[in-house]
Amino acid sequence: MPRRCFACRHPARAEIDRELVAGTSHRSVAKQFGLSASSMFRHRSKHLQPPEAEAEPEAPAVHESQYLHLVDRVEALEGCIELHRKAILEILQRFSRRA
Ligand SMILES: [Zn+2]
Repeated sequence: MPRRCFACRHPARAEIDRELVAGTSHRSVAKQFGLSASSMFRHRSKHLQPPEAEAEPEAPAVHESQYLHLVDRVEALEGCIELHRKAILEILQRFSRRA
């Protein structure tokens, strides 16, 4: 829970995180900022964003124009389905009249 973490609530959290990311041991960072080594260890393993996670590219967002294009396609397909449905009904009616 980040709210209960002393390092997360520490006013110098940005500095703490910078030290940890730079590779300073959690023990010496804890000593430097007056925190316990165990809480610093927990903070590093659970709350610190690994640098490679930040560099990870986000999934490409669907652009609005692409989305609108898809909506157009769906509407066109719905129109096709309606035309086919009418054609099938006409054929069925012709057959039923013959019978
Ligand atoms: Zn934390």
